[in-house]
Amino acid sequence: MPGRWEGPWEGRLEKWRDLLFNPYLLPVARPYSITVETINTCNAKCIFCPYPYNISARERGIMSMPLFRKIVDDYAEWGGGNLCLTPITGEILIDKHLEERIDYARSLSPIKTIEFYTNGLLLDGDRLENLFARGVTRLFISVAGHDRESYRQLMGVDRFQRFCANLEAIHATALRLGRLTSVTIAVRTQLELESYRQTTFYREHLQRFPQVDLINRFSTWGNSIELARLPIPLTAASLGEEHRHRMQRLKCPCAIHYGVSGGMMITWNGVVSYCGCRDFMGNTDLVIGDASRESLVDIWKSPAKKRIVAGFERGEPPLFCQQCDKYTPMTRMNRLQRIRRLLGRGGW
Ligand code: SF4
Ligand code: SF4
Repeated sequence: MPGRWEGPWEGRLEKWRDLLFNPYLLPVARPYSITVETINTCNAKCIFCPYPYNISARERGIMSMPLFRKIVDDYAEWGGGNLCLTPITGEILIDKHLEERIDYARSLSPIKTIEFYTNGLLLDGDRLENLFARGVTRLFISVAGHDRESYRQLMGVDRFQRFCANLEAIHATALRLGRLTSVTIAVRTQLELESYRQTTFYREHLQRFPQVDLINRFSTWGNSIELARLPIPLTAASLGEEHRHRMQRLKCPCAIHYGVSGGMMITWNGVVSYCGCRDFMGNTDLVIGDASRESLVDIWKSPAKKRIVAGFERGEPPLFCQQCDKYTPMTRMNRLQRIRRLLGRGGW
């Protein structure tokens, strides 16, 4: 069956719709969120994450406090917004400076919200209460599988019981504090979603949370993970020619940089990537600067960043993006969500 925009109208309807509804036509003065990767070590080895396959390929490290303060100061002076502390691959709660970083960021009023993903293995009720008290706005707790065996198979560690115990404490604490809606459970499963909702784990542990995101597709992270290793890979079509044609046809930069799903990323040693979502090595053609030497504003306006945007606009996106299944064209940015984000009320 032909797709919605195929046939003689292919491209034209999208073009007119984008002209009429495209928030990209409005200037985006600064990112509504930045991602600061303070640590790139993890205590899990998920088979759908590039981390276990690239442990030795990337230097491990923790961001120094002076560099962290410099980055957050830059962002606050620029106008601030959301601070995302999710490492591209890593577990934030291993970072022994985390609480100190949150305190510092919260001392700067332009930093409106702080959020991050965690696998929850180091999160009990006391720590959650402490994080909320210090000013964390939202937490996403990621889990894969539905019992000890599927958890071990997908997450690469045998810690399902520990996770369940933590989740109990997290629920009780968030409920007591009236912060249940500040916690989202992000689930990966190899089951059909309806089957997953019938599992004991879902019924006894997860469905009490108001926000549960279920996903049963797995990315290759730009062909960094062999398709054969993934339980249910995204279709080849989404990674292949069709995907590239879509980028070429839309001629539109990826919105990740501007604040969707984290905004541009600063790695633990200061490398700045256009992408806060997929550039897990921080050494691709998406690198646009070094936050230890340059201000974030200068990097945002840098020739390297302009080259990437111009490449998208010519239909020649960066090589790394051509393999990416997470492409989010600016035309898909929802105005309402942008306004919500500006008001510090979430979105994306
Ligand atoms: S998906 Fe997250 S928890 Fe799993 S190995 Fe990667 S960084 Fe660690
Ligand atoms: S297309 Fe993919 S790799 Fe490129 S900026 Fe968007 S999310 Fe990142």
